[in-house]
Amino acid sequence: MSVPATAAALTELPAYLYDLAALRAHARRVRAALPDRVELYYAAKANPEAPVLAALHGLVDGYEVSSGGELAHVHATVPDAPLAFGGPGKSPEEIAAALRLPAVRRWHVESERELHALAAAADRPVDVLLRVNLPVGGGALDGVALAMGGRPTPFGMDPGQVARCLALLATPAFARLRLRGIHAHLASGLPAAEQLRVAERIVGWSAGLAARHGLALDEVNVGGGMAVDYEDPDARFDWPRFGRGLAELLARHPSLTLRIEPGRALTAHCGWYATEVLDVKHSHGEDFAVVRGGTHHLRTPATRGHSQPFTVLPVDHWPHPWPRPGVTDSPVTVCGQLCTPKDVLASRAPVPALRAGDRLLFAMAGAYAWNISHHEFLMHPRPAFHYLADRTPDPPAEAP
Ligand SMILES: *Cc1c(COP(=O)(O)O)cnc(C)c1O
Repeated sequence: MSVPATAAALTELPAYLYDLAALRAHARRVRAALPDRVELYYAAKANPEAPVLAALHGLVDGYEVSSGGELAHVHATVPDAPLAFGGPGKSPEEIAAALRLPAVRRWHVESERELHALAAAADRPVDVLLRVNLPVGGGALDGVALAMGGRPTPFGMDPGQVARCLALLATPAFARLRLRGIHAHLASGLPAAEQLRVAERIVGWSAGLAARHGLALDEVNVGGGMAVDYEDPDARFDWPRFGRGLAELLARHPSLTLRIEPGRALTAHCGWYATEVLDVKHSHGEDFAVVRGGTHHLRTPATRGHSQPFTVLPVDHWPHPWPRPGVTDSPVTVCGQLCTPKDVLASRAPVPALRAGDRLLFAMAGAYAWNISHHEFLMHPRPAFHYLADRTPDPPAEAP
């Protein structure tokens, strides 16, 4: 695991560290792996930090937002970027706010109620995708932790409800809504082969729907959910394989534009959470390290039930006259400062050596990390934030 060199020099801990140069390099590789007719949107909910959104600007085709708050924030940060507006419970206020923004290029309509509300409020043409909860079958979603479709969920509409929406869209009251295609985001955490199988099923279903109803549905958004592997921080989703599969799919559908909207697979690896060990103790046969901070800053391991991967940055200086607690060659459970047994960042992690005063650098803290954490619980201070800027040199200035 390659660690940002600056982590050892941080003075204020805990701190989040975002490697924006690495993020941009990664996004360029993702883009290069995708065929031309695939638009890449970034799902802002994975990490909406303004410098992260700005770093992706120009490397993604747009941003997927799922609330009025994300809409306002993303638009303020990257004003010229196209937005796709999703979310299962759009309020009348959010619908009105989104209608005022021309940057909202696509609406992901999640129910018949929403279609009615949008048609009643629309004072201009609106480009719509219907979000459908498709049964993908074939075991493609078996064992997936975060399935949002293919089973009962509040997301999107059942395939059987689509015909009613199509009938409404054909009536004069819905004339401002232009149906462009289908959206489906069925699960998060799929490797490339499964992700391709799901994409093929969504496209196949959409093509069948278009044929049955004599429609030109020339856009399909197959969602996000590309896997990241917390047990192997060096692994990456197989973008080249996914891109080749999408190219084959597009070759079978010559007028189709595909869109994908990954979140975690773009940003998870660019974020780090750095902190220091406050104490090490032995309790009823097991070793515990207590760090400054905890899951109120980095909730990811508690929500997912995994051990967050980390690196020990040894600090040799120990300024105190009392003994320095530590462990060697031991599995150690790394906890935070919260008074709850759930405040665990890593369980029984093997470490060669760990002492109070050493630093820990948690990897893969760039998605669903700070922004999903319960910051107010126990009233500890917030972490510092550092953004390592793009090191790509500017083009040389012209000679006078
Ligand atoms: C959360 C979400 C995404 C992104 O999911 P990742 O697993 O982070 O890639 C994309 N689309 C929709 C509709 C979502 O809700």
